[in-house]
Amino acid sequence: MRYATPRGTADILPRESPRWRYLEDKFREICRLYGYEELRTPTFEETELFARSIGEHTDIVGKEMYTFLDRAERSMTLRPEGTAPVVRAYLQHKLFAKAPVTKLYYITSIFRYERPQAGRYREHHQVGVEALGSADPAMDAEVISLAMEFATSLGMRNLELRMNSVGCPGCRPKYRDVLRKAVEPNLEVLCESCRTRYRANPLRMLDCKRPRCRELTAGAPNIIEYLCEECSKHLDAVLHYLGLLDIGYTLDPRLVRGFDYYTKTAFEIVSAELGAQNAVAGGGRYDGLVAELGGEPTPAVGFGAGIERILDVMDAQGIELPADTHPSVFVATIGDAAREAGVKLLAELRKADVPAETDYAGKSLKAQMKSADRQQARLTIMIGEDELNRGQVKVRNMQTKEETDVPLDRAAVRVKEMLD
Ligand SMILES: [Zn+2]
Ligand SMILES: [Zn+2]
Repeated sequence: MRYATPRGTADILPRESPRWRYLEDKFREICRLYGYEELRTPTFEETELFARSIGEHTDIVGKEMYTFLDRAERSMTLRPEGTAPVVRAYLQHKLFAKAPVTKLYYITSIFRYERPQAGRYREHHQVGVEALGSADPAMDAEVISLAMEFATSLGMRNLELRMNSVGCPGCRPKYRDVLRKAVEPNLEVLCESCRTRYRANPLRMLDCKRPRCRELTAGAPNIIEYLCEECSKHLDAVLHYLGLLDIGYTLDPRLVRGFDYYTKTAFEIVSAELGAQNAVAGGGRYDGLVAELGGEPTPAVGFGAGIERILDVMDAQGIELPADTHPSVFVATIGDAAREAGVKLLAELRKADVPAETDYAGKSLKAQMKSADRQQARLTIMIGEDELNRGQVKVRNMQTKEETDVPLDRAAVRVKEMLD
């Protein structure tokens, strides 16, 4: 074989695409209920947008972005995450001017040069929402509830909502110092990334996945005890709303986000039986990002969820999705004249909203009946010279094998009735 998909990418084949469509339809439906509108942004953006929003010293910007110079030598990057393009569009098109709160959703591909391993893709897909313009804790609760609703609507079980607050630029520096001090005695035994994080971004030491680092930071002070009054009140209010909405949660002080523009609420939805690394959705507040990208200070909250990850969890939980649709009717014909009548009837059936299929391989009647069976058609319409001369067609119920003669000129209508 000469060509194959690039490493870390995958074709979504016809046998898989119904699951994708099912998931995307569910997400669209829930977003519609919650009043979020779809935004589609370009596959690539100026590199600077992501360098600025994700941070120069992160693995993503440092090692994982698909960055290239275009023919005019401008640096461009394939979208490595979903939020920055939404904020860019929000500012560029002044969406803030239309209403105090802008609620957007996206379904998109994400590109990262990851080391291929189980569950990692260089192109993967994500759904997400961003609500811009409100600092109300009820807004956080809405976003979390939308994420939970989406996950449970897909039939996923044993989901756990983990909640934390990462504070704000007012209270976080103090916690950062406390955390550094607590970790300092063990600094030399932490992994290399954690030693870098110690200086640049100490909160990220808490979500290191290495067991050794987790052990060493297990006794670290809890950020919730260092929140300022505003952050503390905000967290309490969000948790209160979750209670009102009957959404259970656990507090997880290790749940952190990277940068200064991430503020207050951080959350993850984890599939309990697959371990902590298997968050199916994650999000939180980012009250500082809009200003970071050149806008007026604007509070915002959102989440993203990886489609491949969700489908993996659904597989692991043995969740069956509605089967693919099969043609309801197969039109089998014998001879040239019957063929013409068959092609016309096929068009009438489809016009009447009846999924219909026929044979395009010049098969015998027997072989056509086999095709109808294989495609799981409910009815087969047989047209031969005899039937045609009598202005009739034969309709065969593929399950009961019962056959009925129906006038050709009323066949589409009658067949539709028989299917109802
Ligand atoms: Zn604070
Ligand atoms: Zn580490």
